[in-house]
Amino acid sequence: MSKTKQDPDYALKVEHAISEKYGAETVQHPQSDWNPQKEQEYLEQLRLLNRKLDKISEKLEKVEVQGVLISKKLLNKDSNRSCPVCSTYSFDTRDNVYMTKYTCCRTCYYQWVEGREERWATGWRPDKGENK
Ligand SMILES: [Zn+2]
Repeated sequence: MSKTKQDPDYALKVEHAISEKYGAETVQHPQSDWNPQKEQEYLEQLRLLNRKLDKISEKLEKVEVQGVLISKKLLNKDSNRSCPVCSTYSFDTRDNVYMTKYTCCRTCYYQWVEGREERWATGWRPDKGENK
C-alpha cells in the first residue's frame, strides 16, 4: 500500500469517495447520532431499496425466448436446451434425459430414436424439416 505513504490524504479521500457513493451515513461512526428510530427508518429504506433492486435485476436477468420471459441464469446454466434435431427450445426437465443421452428432445426421441437406437447411434439424423 505505497499509495498511503505517497498521499497522506489518501484515507480521507477514500472516506470522501465512499460517503459520496453510499451516503454520509455509511462513514459516520454508528454511535454518533444513532437511535432506534433512525435505525428503523434506515432498515425500512434498506428494505425498500432492496425490493427495488430485486425488481430491476429480475427484469435485467430475463430474456425473451420465443415469446416467453426466461431467467438468464436458467439459460446460462443450461445453455444447450435447444434440440439440434427439431430446433425446438425446451424448458421441460424431462427432456434433459433425452438431450443428454440422444442429443435430442423427448418428442424427437419418440419420433426418430425409439426402437431404432442403433441407427441413431451411428449418427443418422432426419432431414431438417422432415418432422414438421
Ligand atoms: Zn427435438
